[in-house]
Formats: sequence, C-alpha cells, structure tokens
Amino acid sequence: MLRRRRKFLEEGYNCALCQDGVEETIEHLFFSCSTSSCRWLVLGIFWNDGGNIFDKLSTAKQAFPFPFFMEVVMIGPWCIWKERNALTFNGKAPNLATWKNDFKKEVRGHLCRIKSSLHDSINFWLDAL
Ligand SMILES: [Zn+2]
Repeated sequence: MLRRRRKFLEEGYNCALCQDGVEETIEHLFFSCSTSSCRWLVLGIFWNDGGNIFDKLSTAKQAFPFPFFMEVVMIGPWCIWKERNALTFNGKAPNLATWKNDFKKEVRGHLCRIKSSLHDSINFWLDAL
C-alpha cells in the first residue's frame, strides 16, 4: 500500500483511474476519463464533448429517459470519486462490476431523500443495470 501511495505521488497530477497520462482535472475525471466513461455508459448517460458543465448536464438530461437524472448524476460521480480514492490510497483496482454494485447500494441508501413516487421506477432501473 505504501508503494502504491509513493507511486501515486511520483506520478504527479495524472489520472489514477485510466493511467493514460492525462492530468486529473474535474473535466477529465468525471466526463472524459475512459474508466468513468464506462461507468456512465452503464448508467445510460452520455456526455457531449463540447460546452461547459451546464451544457453537458442539459444535453445529457434531455437524452436520459427517466425522471431521476439528477439523482443519478449526483451519486455517479460520488461513486467514481470513491473508486478513485480506493485505488489511490488503498491500491484497490477499479472494477466495473464492483462499481456498479456500489452505485446501486448508494442509490438505494439515498432513496429516503428521493421522492417516493420515483422509488419503484428507480428500483426497476437499478435491477436492470
Ligand atoms: Zn482518467
């Protein structure tokens, strides 16, 4: 684990998730990183390449066919961030299936904060992921 931390520090500010030698900016980590892109693909959210974050959110929301877009977009990055930190600080390799299970668990854990009228459709959607 110490070796992994040392390696991380030696690599500077590059993204730990994809290890493509790209600086880990917010834009990269949450929108263009190949690892996070796989997570968004699983969720059925597609980010356009141009524009600012508001343009990206607006375009992706219009294309997302369910009424709980913001809930997904709030929890998705949280799970990406946790996966990034698990790799950076604990040396835990990113894994799509593990990430998906963590995402489902997080969403279900936040159902109490989401309109009850959406619970059935969210659970149905989560079961289909
Ligand atoms: Zn990356």
